[in-house]
Amino acid sequence: MGYIEPAPIKDLENPFESMMSRFHIAAQHLGLDDEIYNVLKSPARQVTVNLPITMDDGSIQVFEGYRVIHSTILGPSKGGVRYDMGVNIDEVKALAAWMTWKCAVVDIPYGGAKGGIKCNPRSMSAGEIERLTRAYTESMVDVFGEDRDIPAPDMGTGPREMAWMMDAYSRSKGMTVNAVVTGKPLVLGGSLGRTEATGRGVMVSALAAMEKLKINPYKATMAVQGFGNVGSFAALLLEERGATIKAISDISGAYFNDKGINIKEAIEYRNNNNGTLEGFNGAEKIAHEELLTLEVDVLIPAAKEDVITHDNAGKIKAKLIVEGANGPTSAKADSIINEHGIMVAPDILANAGGVTVSYFEWVQNRLGYKWTRERVNRRSDRIMKDAFEVVYKTSIDYDVPMRIAAYIVAIDKVAQTYKYRGGY
Ligand code: GLU
Repeated sequence: MGYIEPAPIKDLENPFESMMSRFHIAAQHLGLDDEIYNVLKSPARQVTVNLPITMDDGSIQVFEGYRVIHSTILGPSKGGVRYDMGVNIDEVKALAAWMTWKCAVVDIPYGGAKGGIKCNPRSMSAGEIERLTRAYTESMVDVFGEDRDIPAPDMGTGPREMAWMMDAYSRSKGMTVNAVVTGKPLVLGGSLGRTEATGRGVMVSALAAMEKLKINPYKATMAVQGFGNVGSFAALLLEERGATIKAISDISGAYFNDKGINIKEAIEYRNNNNGTLEGFNGAEKIAHEELLTLEVDVLIPAAKEDVITHDNAGKIKAKLIVEGANGPTSAKADSIINEHGIMVAPDILANAGGVTVSYFEWVQNRLGYKWTRERVNRRSDRIMKDAFEVVYKTSIDYDVPMRIAAYIVAIDKVAQTYKYRGGY
């Protein structure tokens, strides 16, 4: 690499820059050609749409939606669609690139993409969300495709929205195309095991990392930030394997119990309480920020980007961080975490269980065949464990932290594939 200026490392930065600063470090370790660096540093395609939606009160509101395809070098692009007020083009660009690296790390034949709509689904009715989802999908009919670009759930979306996307896309094509979307309800061709897949992959990564650090799961204590699809299943599955989950959190606050929180009860409480832990009495309430710096062995950020920053990284007492969320650690926090000798199972490795089972869903749809839950779990566990070992070995071979090792594995794979495919 010659003339390329390093990307600036800032805290709470634009998430795309945060992604790029790690990409840059890994590219230097790999001695990546400038040409390939330039190919991978920008998304292949970005689409922005404005969607006028009739709200229940008869008014018309315009929503901004995005789909960013970062790369299709390894195959059709893959990635979720996020509904959140914080959605913006830089975030979607970063998330799309992370999908490219994630798919490459677990060695599944997909490129990376991400979509998003700036909206607050909690304040919208089901009908409003349905109209918005259908309008978004129709505006993306030339972007999506079972061999082109395959959306999935992300923050604020789930099987219900995937069903509407599948239906809207299928109607526009005049036939049922269930492989165009993953994370669908089971009856529409969803896969057994998809709902818990990301949390399960976090569990497999955590156990693999704990084995390296010689932390006994039965004696391990943990704090899990975020109690949505990823955090709650990760907590439940780790609890089932003997760990004590001392703290959990969601938008309503953070909850601590020194003896361990009963995760099954917490999930049941949340399910019967409008999706939040508000009022949960199986633990005492603590400050949000406190959860990150608790005296536990393992910290699992499973909420959103940039929660571990240079301000709080130095106070983290966990020996291991397993990233359930995408981009929870700012680039500036990386060096503090490394100096403190904390191992990180990075996002593009640890949360890849979701897209892995999305891939299985797509394979099953195309085969017109259904796998058992055992087959799904066995194969995804193996992929996650193998990917962990490859990244771990790379971190030793290159003498770099796990995060940079994961980028090295991913970038090397995409770069090699690009070389074979060639450009114009
Ligand atoms: N949104 C999930 C992720 O960030 C899943 C993507 C997918 O299954 O395509 O990994």
